[in-house]
Amino acid sequence: MRLFECGSLVPGCEWHTRADNDAEIVRRVVEHMRVTHGETTIRENMIDNIKVRIVDESKAA
Ligand SMILES: [Zn+2]
Repeated sequence: MRLFECGSLVPGCEWHTRADNDAEIVRRVVEHMRVTHGETTIRENMIDNIKVRIVDESKAA
């Protein structure tokens, strides 16, 4: 299972999501960025920033 914690990108945000593939994580995070953080324009570097912060849950503390 893959895990993304928004706090690794937006300090203080406690939102996180799990999925079995990175594409689904990115899709959910982009939606979260729009709804919660008001990021109406998702730039390519935002996608990269999301991808590098997705971790295998087994390795997460
Ligand atoms: Zn967030």
